[in-house]
Amino acid sequence: MFCPQCGKENEAAARFCGHCGATIGECAPESPPGPGRPAVPGEPVRIVDLARAASAVSPGLKWGVIAASVLAPIVGMGMGLYYWMRAESPEKLAVGKTWFFIGLGITAFYLLLGTEQY
Ligand SMILES: [Zn+2]
Repeated sequence: MFCPQCGKENEAAARFCGHCGATIGECAPESPPGPGRPAVPGEPVRIVDLARAASAVSPGLKWGVIAASVLAPIVGMGMGLYYWMRAESPEKLAVGKTWFFIGLGITAFYLLLGTEQY
């Protein structure tokens, strides 16, 4: 991240410039507040915090999220198939079918996503 005051590079997570001490990220140079409209102090800071949080996510956590989002539809598919095969009542059959196809759809979506990326 570059300092808006002096233009020198700083760490992405830095709150203050290490060269001139200016606060980084509080003022957005691309979108200055309109004339006569007071600046909202909370909003740009919140966006910066979100970006910082996203970049601070560790690879382990990221893989955990990926594993969970892949595992969830598979579990849903299994549960759906289980209800579908047992089919004790028409309601359970419908619920099982619904869950099976939701899981199948999400799994197919992830597979498509994966083949597109690699
Ligand atoms: Zn600076």
